Amino acid sequence: MDFNLTKEQTMIRKMVRDFAEEVIKPRAIEIDKQAKFPKDIFDEMGKLGLMGIPFPEKYGGSGGDTVSYAIAVEEIGRVCGSTGLSYAAAVSLGASPIFYFGTKEQKQKFLTQKAEGKTLGAFGLTEPNAGSDAGGTKTTAVLKDDKYVINGEKCFITNASFADTIIVTAVTGKNEKGKNIISALIVPADAEGLTITNNYDKMGVRGSDTAEIVLDNVKVPKENLLGDPQKGFKQFLYTLDGGRISIAALGLGIAQASLDKALSYAKERTQFGQSISKFQAIQFKLADMAMEVELARNMIYKAAWLKDQEKPFTKEAAYAKLFATETAFKNANEAIQIHGGYGYMRDYEVERYLRDAKLLEIGEGTSEVQRLVISRQLGC
Ligand SMILES: Cc1cc2nc3c(=O)[nH]c(=O)nc-3n(C[C@H](O)[C@H](O)[C@H](O)COP(=O)(O)OP(=O)(O)OC[C@H]3O[C@@H](n4cnc5c(N)ncnc54)[C@H](O)[C@@H]3O)c2cc1C
Repeated sequence: MDFNLTKEQTMIRKMVRDFAEEVIKPRAIEIDKQAKFPKDIFDEMGKLGLMGIPFPEKYGGSGGDTVSYAIAVEEIGRVCGSTGLSYAAAVSLGASPIFYFGTKEQKQKFLTQKAEGKTLGAFGLTEPNAGSDAGGTKTTAVLKDDKYVINGEKCFITNASFADTIIVTAVTGKNEKGKNIISALIVPADAEGLTITNNYDKMGVRGSDTAEIVLDNVKVPKENLLGDPQKGFKQFLYTLDGGRISIAALGLGIAQASLDKALSYAKERTQFGQSISKFQAIQFKLADMAMEVELARNMIYKAAWLKDQEKPFTKEAAYAKLFATETAFKNANEAIQIHGGYGYMRDYEVERYLRDAKLLEIGEGTSEVQRLVISRQLGC
């Protein structure tokens, strides 16, 4: 067993950390306050090759592994949850399904530009009445004269207003048991009949774009069907397993940032004639925070490594997502507590960490859904 990062993984950590510290960090407060998607930062990330870390070079990617990608999400999440969420969603949800299940032509047409950071992708699974129960999808896609005609509604879709394509799940028929067949289709964002609205006023990750989508007789060529139409449900479960590693990594970034801020504040702040870091009550909080950050990191790297080895990783991705996101929320809460009244003020940033972390316990499968996934894996 080797716990060392490879040379390449270490280089990616340094490159992303430098970029995050120099370019994203100074703007994190403003991104949150203005709730404005930082498109220019994404353009820069594209030029650095960050949008294509886990994809092969022949499709415009950097040919990195899942561990490297998780490290990149962690480093971005450490300075800005909004940018981290949009980054994770663009790579894991907007582009990865095309890499996993797309034809050669689909990869050339849709993946390359995303991997090069020239365009962004989105993934529309959630509907007003189908959230955790994603199998309850009501959107339909009917094949008529070589085109799928799609009708339905999607909600809470990350990056949709800035995307060139949205991968949409829809019911395309019934199987022999009479159950709905759910397939995934690549829908160009400028397709006629597609309306994208971003009116949500969010608690956290405010600079990440979140939109509602209405599909009214949207027509896409039948070549835009992604993967095996009979296995659409399995395909998006695989996509979500991969996405969970990235949301876990984002949680890790926030948990680490909370620890860093709390530790440095505890050393500076004096009460009762001494640094508050000398109080055992504060020391024990910091010790627990540091331990859980370390545990989360190990769980994430293990899940990412399993994926890279093409071994089953569903359970480990759920462990990592559940633990890292709950750790992010707990650590952010403790960081506020250690800052006292100052922690309640926006300029100290830890209150933003808490608001951003809360989303991670909901998106890409709530904590309850992760526990369901784990218990099913245990054979319950
Ligand atoms: C900012 C943001 C970004 C998002 N980005 C995307 C995106 O890019 N693409 C996308 O498709 N979706 C996206 N989502 C949607 C997100 O994945 C869903 O909100 C999430 O899956 C939960 O669905 P829901 O909101 O309908 O809650 P519900 O499913 O209605 O859940 C409500 C509560 O019931 C619990 N619950 C539900 N079923 C069970 C059960 N069987 N057992 C125990 N408890 C249960 C849940 O855990 C939760 O606590 C995003 C959401 C947000 C807020």
